[in-house]
Amino acid sequence: MPETEPNVLFANHSTAKLLAIVSVEHSERVRCGQPNCGHSVYRRIHVVRENSKLMVLGSTCFAKRYGNDAALGSARFGGGEGKPLTQAERELLVNNTQALLEQFEIEAAALEAAKVKPTPPTVLQPRPFRAIQHVIASVPPRETPWEWVKPLSSVIFLKLKDGSGWMRAQRRDDKHLLVPWPVFEGWDEALPPLFGPIDSACGGHLLPDVIAALRYLRNHAEWETKPGRWRDVLTEIASRTASS
Ligand SMILES: [Zn+2]
Repeated sequence: MPETEPNVLFANHSTAKLLAIVSVEHSERVRCGQPNCGHSVYRRIHVVRENSKLMVLGSTCFAKRYGNDAALGSARFGGGEGKPLTQAERELLVNNTQALLEQFEIEAAALEAAKVKPTPPTVLQPRPFRAIQHVIASVPPRETPWEWVKPLSSVIFLKLKDGSGWMRAQRRDDKHLLVPWPVFEGWDEALPPLFGPIDSACGGHLLPDVIAALRYLRNHAEWETKPGRWRDVLTEIASRTASS
């Protein structure tokens, strides 16, 4: 039924976001998601969020749908020929694209953490990506990328009007920390003294008064997630970021 759903065939440029460009083995080609296309694609596969719906498009259909190759700017993850996917990631691309994107977020966060804290290596050891992927492919990850976080504790994320983002997490000794998310230049001087000293091992403020800290943040926040498990909070950030 080629002409029954015109609004599915045409792009909504205002809300579309290019999230990733990925590639798979030729023998592992995936189906292009453009209605009525039906082609199998393996290089420069474009993952787009449009009206809160994720689409997996071949590069030709992407260019047709949005006008040209560069219509949506550069991808948040991958580029060029596309980030090569492992077998497990390819399965996620097909069956749970959202989970694949969350996995990319976690990898990026681990990379970011590794970049900002080069020393001492024993304190902050980003887990090898293969290990992260293995965990995600087998069981949903339940914990944060940070080793110091108290198991089963919840986190909350607040996006401030100045563009910075902060994650409140709890340490194993029950102390609360506020960690920049993502880490940015000058984060350790961005907040007033009420946020307490920097814990350089954890890469955040050690909060002397979590209530006062949250009150301050909420007064300066554009939005915040519901408090919850790491994965749920990341999902909420991803959906809010994609729709904003
Ligand atoms: Zn196509």
